[in-house]
Amino acid sequence: MNSNLKERISAVKKRIDQACAKVGRDPSLVRLVAVSKKKPAEMIRAAYELGLRDFGENYAQDLQAKAEALNDLRDIRWHFIGKLQRNKARSVAQIATLIHSVHSQDLVEKLDHICAETGPLSILVQLNISEEDSKSGIAPDALPSLMEKISVMPNLTCVGLMTIPPPVDDSEQVRPIFRQMRIIRDKLAAKHPQLTQLSMGMTDDLEVAIQEGATLVRVGTAIFGPRE
Ligand SMILES: *Cc1c(COP(=O)(O)O)cnc(C)c1O
Repeated sequence: MNSNLKERISAVKKRIDQACAKVGRDPSLVRLVAVSKKKPAEMIRAAYELGLRDFGENYAQDLQAKAEALNDLRDIRWHFIGKLQRNKARSVAQIATLIHSVHSQDLVEKLDHICAETGPLSILVQLNISEEDSKSGIAPDALPSLMEKISVMPNLTCVGLMTIPPPVDDSEQVRPIFRQMRIIRDKLAAKHPQLTQLSMGMTDDLEVAIQEGATLVRVGTAIFGPRE
């Protein structure tokens, strides 16, 4: 299993390097978040031993269980990428380096309240670019006022934006969505210079995302294999 994992990780790193080369970006500015959802803690440990440090989980309970099982790995960084329920916000805020999926004003207020006690927290706001009802996220129109609110919260910092595009057959179809993310970020960054991160791109579309400016790619299947 380990040699397989090693090969998969180097293949993903190669894809990242090639996508960066194509548009003249520095690969050290694209962080690989290995999405370990539904995979056992021991597989995460193996990936850590092969050099990965950033791992993404999308269920609060799984995040907590895996963080406990791996608490000897001092410099591991956990990213929360799933739909966050209010009643799980505290436990996630205490574990995660970055919450990618902040999808409502209500959740922003809850997190602000929590980190007044638990300390500073970095978040990304999840945007719903494709305006699909089924996808969660903030509408682009609502973003400027939400950013204003967050900017006066002493313990909460929004460092960027995240999106999950709808499933498509050809990754070129999501390019306009990723490009839109970049445009929205650039526009807001004039007023909010801490908005440096764009979390976009997964196994099937990481090249396109990187070409459009992704700084965090969330890759599951290409690293850990298919999920049941
Ligand atoms: C599962 C998941 C991923 C990883 O998807 P793959 O296609 O397996 O790379 C990325 N982001 C989010 C939010 C996910 O839930």
